[in-house]
Amino acid sequence: MIASERKPLDEILGQLEGEANVFVVACDGCSAGCQVSDPDHTEQMVKELEEAGKTVTGVARVEMVCNSGLTALMLARHLSSVNQADGLLVMSCGVGVQSVAAAVEKPVHPATNSIHLGGFQGLWRSEARCAQCGDCLLDYTGGICPYTACSKGLTHGSCGGPMDGKCEVDPSIPCGWERIYQRLAALGKADRLQEMPLRLRDFRNMLPMKERRRTSLWALELFEEPEAAEEAG
Ligand code: SF4
Ligand code: SF4
Repeated sequence: MIASERKPLDEILGQLEGEANVFVVACDGCSAGCQVSDPDHTEQMVKELEEAGKTVTGVARVEMVCNSGLTALMLARHLSSVNQADGLLVMSCGVGVQSVAAAVEKPVHPATNSIHLGGFQGLWRSEARCAQCGDCLLDYTGGICPYTACSKGLTHGSCGGPMDGKCEVDPSIPCGWERIYQRLAALGKADRLQEMPLRLRDFRNMLPMKERRRTSLWALELFEEPEAAEEAG
Protein backbone atom coordinates (compact mmCIF):
# COMPACT_ATOMS: atom_id res chain seq x y z
CA MET A 1 0.00 0.00 0.00
CA ILE A 2 1.08 3.55 -0.74
CA ALA A 3 -0.51 6.14 1.51
CA SER A 4 -1.76 9.47 0.17
CA GLU A 5 -2.93 12.79 1.51
CA ARG A 6 -4.85 15.35 -0.53
CA LYS A 7 -3.04 18.47 -1.65
CA PRO A 8 -4.58 21.79 -0.58
CA LEU A 9 -7.18 23.21 -2.98
CA ASP A 10 -5.05 26.29 -3.73
CA GLU A 11 -2.20 24.10 -4.93
CA ILE A 12 -4.54 21.98 -7.06
CA LEU A 13 -6.09 25.07 -8.66
CA GLY A 14 -2.61 26.47 -9.27
CA GLN A 15 -1.75 23.33 -11.22
CA LEU A 16 -4.95 23.70 -13.26
CA GLU A 17 -4.36 27.34 -14.17
CA GLY A 18 -5.33 27.92 -17.80
CA GLU A 19 -7.22 24.62 -17.98
CA ALA A 20 -10.96 25.26 -17.83
CA ASN A 21 -12.04 21.67 -18.56
CA VAL A 22 -10.85 18.92 -16.27
CA PHE A 23 -11.32 15.15 -16.27
CA VAL A 24 -10.98 13.48 -12.86
CA VAL A 25 -9.50 10.01 -12.33
CA ALA A 26 -10.09 8.50 -8.88
CA CYS A 27 -8.48 5.33 -7.53
CA ASP A 28 -10.58 2.78 -5.66
CA GLY A 29 -7.46 1.22 -4.12
CA CYS A 30 -4.99 2.50 -1.53
CA SER A 31 -5.87 6.20 -1.79
CA ALA A 32 -9.57 5.40 -1.34
CA GLY A 33 -8.56 3.52 1.81
CA CYS A 34 -6.77 6.69 2.94
CA GLN A 35 -10.06 8.60 2.49
CA VAL A 36 -8.61 10.67 -0.31
CA SER A 37 -10.27 9.27 -3.45
CA ASP A 38 -13.26 7.32 -2.11
CA PRO A 39 -16.61 8.27 -3.71
CA ASP A 40 -17.46 10.89 -1.05
CA HIS A 41 -14.12 12.68 -1.30
CA THR A 42 -14.16 12.48 -5.10
CA GLU A 43 -17.60 14.07 -5.13
CA GLN A 44 -16.28 16.77 -2.80
CA MET A 45 -13.36 17.41 -5.14
CA VAL A 46 -15.67 17.75 -8.15
CA LYS A 47 -17.82 20.19 -6.18
CA GLU A 48 -14.79 22.29 -5.22
CA LEU A 49 -13.55 22.35 -8.82
CA GLU A 50 -16.95 23.44 -10.11
CA GLU A 51 -17.23 26.12 -7.42
CA ALA A 52 -13.85 27.39 -8.61
CA GLY A 53 -15.27 27.75 -12.14
CA LYS A 54 -13.93 24.55 -13.70
CA THR A 55 -16.00 22.29 -15.93
CA VAL A 56 -15.56 18.66 -14.97
CA THR A 57 -15.97 16.76 -18.24
CA GLY A 58 -16.17 13.39 -16.50
CA VAL A 59 -14.98 11.16 -13.68
CA ALA A 60 -13.45 7.69 -14.03
CA ARG A 61 -13.20 5.43 -11.01
CA VAL A 62 -10.50 2.81 -11.52
CA GLU A 63 -10.06 -0.15 -9.19
CA MET A 64 -6.28 0.31 -9.01
CA VAL A 65 -4.95 3.24 -11.04
CA CYS A 66 -1.43 1.84 -10.64
CA ASN A 67 -2.53 -0.99 -12.97
CA SER A 68 -1.53 0.78 -16.18
CA GLY A 69 -3.38 -1.64 -18.48
CA LEU A 70 -6.63 -1.30 -16.54
CA THR A 71 -6.26 2.48 -16.36
CA ALA A 72 -5.72 2.76 -20.13
CA LEU A 73 -8.82 0.60 -20.69
CA MET A 74 -10.98 2.71 -18.36
CA LEU A 75 -9.80 5.95 -19.94
CA ALA A 76 -10.58 4.55 -23.39
CA ARG A 77 -14.15 3.99 -22.17
CA HIS A 78 -14.35 7.70 -21.31
CA LEU A 79 -12.56 8.80 -24.47
CA SER A 80 -14.97 11.54 -25.45
CA SER A 81 -14.92 13.16 -21.97
CA VAL A 82 -11.14 12.81 -21.76
CA ASN A 83 -10.78 14.45 -25.17
CA GLN A 84 -12.93 17.39 -24.05
CA ALA A 85 -10.61 18.02 -21.09
CA ASP A 86 -7.61 20.35 -21.12
CA GLY A 87 -5.98 18.25 -18.40
CA LEU A 88 -6.58 15.36 -16.02
CA LEU A 89 -6.59 15.55 -12.23
CA VAL A 90 -5.59 12.24 -10.67
CA MET A 91 -6.67 11.27 -7.17
CA SER A 92 -4.27 8.41 -6.43
CA CYS A 93 -0.74 7.77 -5.27
CA GLY A 94 2.20 8.92 -7.42
CA VAL A 95 2.33 5.58 -9.23
CA GLY A 96 -1.27 6.05 -10.38
CA VAL A 97 -0.58 9.57 -11.64
CA GLN A 98 2.31 8.19 -13.70
CA SER A 99 0.05 5.42 -15.09
CA VAL A 100 -2.42 8.02 -16.29
CA ALA A 101 0.37 10.16 -17.78
CA ALA A 102 1.58 7.14 -19.74
CA ALA A 103 -1.92 6.58 -21.15
CA VAL A 104 -2.84 10.09 -22.35
CA GLU A 105 -1.14 12.85 -24.33
CA LYS A 106 -2.51 15.55 -22.05
CA PRO A 107 -1.26 17.35 -18.94
CA VAL A 108 -1.78 15.23 -15.83
CA HIS A 109 -1.89 16.71 -12.33
CA PRO A 110 -1.54 15.01 -8.94
CA ALA A 111 -4.30 15.78 -6.43
CA THR A 112 -2.33 14.12 -3.64
CA ASN A 113 1.04 13.71 -2.00
CA SER A 114 2.24 10.15 -1.46
CA ILE A 115 3.72 9.63 1.97
CA HIS A 116 5.82 6.97 3.60
CA LEU A 117 4.40 4.23 5.83
CA GLY A 118 7.53 2.09 5.97
CA GLY A 119 7.69 -1.64 5.28
CA PHE A 120 6.86 -3.49 2.11
CA GLN A 121 4.79 -1.46 -0.32
CA GLY A 122 3.28 -4.33 -2.30
CA LEU A 123 3.45 -4.89 -6.04
CA TRP A 124 1.69 -3.24 -8.94
CA ARG A 125 1.43 -3.77 -12.65
CA SER A 126 3.33 -0.73 -13.81
CA GLU A 127 6.94 0.20 -14.35
CA ALA A 128 6.37 3.51 -12.56
CA ARG A 129 7.71 3.90 -9.05
CA CYS A 130 7.02 6.44 -6.31
CA ALA A 131 9.50 7.25 -3.53
CA GLN A 132 6.67 8.66 -1.35
CA CYS A 133 8.39 12.03 -1.07
CA GLY A 134 5.27 13.69 0.39
CA ASP A 135 5.40 16.68 -1.98
CA CYS A 136 4.46 15.35 -5.38
CA LEU A 137 6.25 17.16 -8.22
CA LEU A 138 4.59 15.34 -11.11
CA ASP A 139 2.73 18.45 -12.21
CA TYR A 140 6.09 20.06 -13.10
CA THR A 141 7.64 16.99 -14.63
CA GLY A 142 5.02 15.81 -17.10
CA GLY A 143 3.86 12.96 -14.89
CA ILE A 144 7.29 11.29 -14.68
CA CYS A 145 8.75 11.02 -11.18
CA PRO A 146 12.24 12.54 -10.98
CA TYR A 147 13.03 10.70 -7.75
CA THR A 148 12.62 7.32 -9.39
CA ALA A 149 13.19 7.94 -13.12
CA CYS A 150 16.59 9.59 -12.56
CA SER A 151 19.31 7.27 -11.25
CA LYS A 152 20.55 10.02 -8.94
CA GLY A 153 17.06 11.13 -7.90
CA LEU A 154 17.81 14.65 -9.10
CA THR A 155 14.86 17.02 -8.87
CA HIS A 156 16.02 20.09 -10.78
CA GLY A 157 17.29 18.81 -14.08
CA SER A 158 19.86 16.60 -15.66
CA CYS A 159 23.27 15.93 -14.10
CA GLY A 160 24.79 16.83 -17.47
CA GLY A 161 26.05 13.31 -18.08
CA PRO A 162 23.50 11.64 -20.37
CA MET A 163 24.89 10.26 -23.66
CA ASP A 164 22.51 9.90 -26.60
CA GLY A 165 19.58 10.15 -24.23
CA LYS A 166 20.90 7.35 -21.99
CA CYS A 167 21.69 7.60 -18.29
CA GLU A 168 25.38 7.95 -17.43
CA VAL A 169 24.92 5.71 -14.39
CA ASP A 170 23.20 2.93 -16.35
CA PRO A 171 23.38 3.34 -20.15
CA SER A 172 20.81 0.56 -20.56
CA ILE A 173 18.05 2.93 -19.43
CA PRO A 174 16.93 6.29 -20.80
CA CYS A 175 17.92 9.40 -18.88
CA GLY A 176 14.96 10.26 -16.67
CA TRP A 177 15.41 13.99 -17.27
CA GLU A 178 15.55 13.47 -21.02
CA ARG A 179 12.20 11.65 -20.73
CA ILE A 180 10.76 14.44 -18.61
CA TYR A 181 11.87 17.13 -21.07
CA GLN A 182 10.63 15.22 -24.13
CA ARG A 183 7.25 14.58 -22.50
CA LEU A 184 6.79 18.24 -21.51
CA ALA A 185 7.95 19.45 -24.93
CA ALA A 186 5.44 17.14 -26.64
CA LEU A 187 2.69 18.67 -24.50
CA GLY A 188 3.91 22.20 -25.26
CA LYS A 189 4.66 22.62 -21.54
CA ALA A 190 8.44 22.76 -21.42
CA ASP A 191 8.17 26.12 -19.62
CA ARG A 192 6.77 24.26 -16.64
CA LEU A 193 10.31 23.27 -15.68
CA GLN A 194 11.26 26.90 -15.22
CA GLU A 195 8.28 27.40 -12.92
CA MET A 196 9.37 24.56 -10.66
CA PRO A 197 10.24 26.00 -7.25
CA LEU A 198 13.84 25.52 -6.20
CA ARG A 199 13.73 23.88 -2.80
CA LEU A 200 15.65 21.37 -0.80
CA ARG A 201 13.93 18.07 -0.20
CA ASP A 202 12.27 18.06 3.21
CA PHE A 203 12.17 14.46 4.42
CA ARG A 204 9.63 15.41 7.11
CA ASN A 205 7.09 15.62 4.26
CA MET A 206 7.25 11.83 4.01
CA LEU A 207 5.36 11.54 7.30
CA PRO A 208 1.58 11.86 7.56
CA MET A 209 0.25 15.19 8.78
CA LYS A 210 0.76 15.51 12.52
CA GLU A 211 -2.94 15.55 13.36
CA ARG A 212 -3.49 12.25 11.57
CA ARG A 213 -0.58 10.33 13.01
CA ARG A 214 -2.41 9.18 16.11
CA THR A 215 -5.58 7.97 14.39
CA SER A 216 -6.38 4.31 13.84
CA LEU A 217 -6.39 5.01 10.09
CA TRP A 218 -2.66 5.45 10.14
CA ALA A 219 -1.98 3.12 13.06
CA LEU A 220 0.99 5.26 13.96
CA GLU A 221 0.81 5.99 17.65
CA LEU A 222 4.10 7.86 17.45
CA PHE A 223 3.65 10.28 20.27
CA GLU A 224 1.14 11.85 22.63
CA GLU A 225 0.52 15.56 22.75
CA PRO A 226 1.51 16.77 26.24
CA GLU A 227 -2.02 18.22 26.76
CA ALA A 228 -3.68 14.95 25.76
CA ALA A 229 -1.42 13.00 28.09
CA GLU A 230 -2.28 15.38 30.96
CA GLU A 231 -6.03 15.08 30.26
CA ALA A 232 -5.75 11.30 30.18
CA GLY A 233 -4.24 11.65 33.67
S1 SF4 B 1 7.21 13.22 -6.96
FE1 SF4 B 1 7.59 11.03 -7.21
S2 SF4 B 1 8.16 10.33 -5.15
FE2 SF4 B 1 7.11 12.29 -4.89
S3 SF4 B 1 4.93 11.70 -4.52
FE3 SF4 B 1 5.19 12.18 -6.74
S4 SF4 B 1 5.58 10.17 -7.68
FE4 SF4 B 1 5.96 9.93 -5.48
S1 SF4 C 1 22.02 10.81 -16.87
FE1 SF4 C 1 19.91 11.49 -16.50
S2 SF4 C 1 18.92 9.82 -15.33
FE2 SF4 C 1 21.13 9.46 -15.29
S3 SF4 C 1 21.79 10.39 -13.38
FE3 SF4 C 1 22.07 11.96 -14.98
S4 SF4 C 1 20.16 13.13 -15.01
FE4 SF4 C 1 19.74 11.27 -13.83
